[in-house]
Amino acid sequence: NMPEATANTEQLAEALLSYWGYDSFRPLQQEAMECGMNGRDSVVVLPTGGGKSLCYQAPAACRDGVAVVVSPLISLMKDQVDALTACGIPAAALNSTLTADERRDITQRLRAGEIKLLYAAPERLLLDGTLSFLTQLKVSFVAIDEAHCISAWGHDFRPEYRGLKVLREALPHVSMHAYTATASEKVRQDIASQLELRDPAMLVGSFDRPNLVYRVRRANQKLKQITAVVDRHRGESGIIYCISRKEVERTADALRSLGVQAAPYHAGLSDKERHRNQDDFIEDRVQVVVATVAFGMGIDKPDVRFVAHAGLPKSIEHYQQESGRAGRDGLKSECLLLFSPGDASTWRRMLASSDDQQAFTAAMRSVDQMCDYANSVTCRHKSLVEFFGQDYEKPNCGACDVCLAELETVDEPLVLAQKIVSCVARLEQRFGGDYTSKVLAGSSEARILNAGHDRLSTYGLLKEFKPPVIRDWIEQLVGQGYLRKEGEFDVLQISETGLGLLKGDAEPRLLSPSAPAARQKKKSAD
Ligand code: ADP
Ligand code: ZN
Repeated sequence: NMPEATANTEQLAEALLSYWGYDSFRPLQQEAMECGMNGRDSVVVLPTGGGKSLCYQAPAACRDGVAVVVSPLISLMKDQVDALTACGIPAAALNSTLTADERRDITQRLRAGEIKLLYAAPERLLLDGTLSFLTQLKVSFVAIDEAHCISAWGHDFRPEYRGLKVLREALPHVSMHAYTATASEKVRQDIASQLELRDPAMLVGSFDRPNLVYRVRRANQKLKQITAVVDRHRGESGIIYCISRKEVERTADALRSLGVQAAPYHAGLSDKERHRNQDDFIEDRVQVVVATVAFGMGIDKPDVRFVAHAGLPKSIEHYQQESGRAGRDGLKSECLLLFSPGDASTWRRMLASSDDQQAFTAAMRSVDQMCDYANSVTCRHKSLVEFFGQDYEKPNCGACDVCLAELETVDEPLVLAQKIVSCVARLEQRFGGDYTSKVLAGSSEARILNAGHDRLSTYGLLKEFKPPVIRDWIEQLVGQGYLRKEGEFDVLQISETGLGLLKGDAEPRLLSPSAPAARQKKKSAD
């Protein structure tokens, strides 16, 4: 159902064509742009690549006055200002890297009403001088990019975003518009309330990317698994994300030694090297970029055919953004996630350096959700779409490892799951996954014998399996919601559905212990 065409619509369509050469709106762009035109507050949630920037750029170009755009990263601001200038829309960015001359020039052009979009980071905008200067200008509206940064529930909380509500006091008659790629229902509500939006239009795009095939695998032979995905896509562009710079370098070197044109990308390289590698990738002189998460912000290559993660991403939002860089042209593309149980502790170590306890807790919650996704045996499309607060109706997506039945599952998952959950019950829900798996495996570790847990009826109930195998199943049951981890020590708790499972009322799915463990054994033998 197309929204009604108004005079605004025509003006917007004309701007789209004359400045950008686009002849149609992407989903929800028109609605979002109309809010910018008629001054209704809005929260716009579109996935990466959905065309959020145009949602404020087009109305800004059409309206009188200057639109103030809040953006967190100076490098992104610069890219946007350059792109707008190239389209013939006068734009500028206020930031700490400006010389006095440049600043004076921008001030003059703003006073003369010559600038259509003014970008600034929140901390700069909130300086008294900047605010009082803005009140002297004709401001068309305020656009807040990456608006999830305002919410401690989001994956990238930035305290300086909290101050943005003073814009409302300083510019009471100016509408405010928030944009993000990454909002669960909770974050969305939080954005609206933190910014004190007035009856905002909530525009939430579809997060499903039906052309992406999602796969999740345990990283048992990481380099081999990565080479295999590169091989499947000979001559096609792809991105490989690693957690650390060291791993980026190691992986890029290994691929190059196999004759793959691969370039590294991470914050440790000089600006020049990074730009060169990025350009080489965009212009197809390099097939694969091996990168930390820093890569891809603001780049728009339509024909990326695969995105592989060599380790667990930091959050589902990050995963959605990073994997979402594949297949922007709508053609079938592959997203492979390789993860190890140790990835979560790697993140814990890396995030622990933050001295903001609230931010750390929120960040670890995001890592845990990502673990649950990796361990779940539910349709990947469904999990992702539901994470972003939307319904997914298709019973079989036909485009994920689960629905394609690529994952080997055990034959009698219910019985197996019942054994595990009843052991958690026997242990009075006071122990973690490690301990519980050892009790089930019948380990004779001193702490188990001392506690008398060798006398439990569930002791050794799964003695034909090694503790790490049982441990994985526990994670899978957590991922499927039958068990929960609680507190600092991840003590296992039985959920409502877990109680149902004990009564036989559940359909858990558990992966075969197969490949990883077996191969690891072989490796240590030779
Ligand atoms: P987001 O910020 O949501 O990730 P962008 O604003 O960067 O997305 O847009 C992604 C790409 O889509 C950009 O190359 C942009 O120029 C392009 N784009 C945006 N809107 C349209 C449209 N209506 N028609 C064609 N291309 C568009
Ligand atoms: Zn599926």
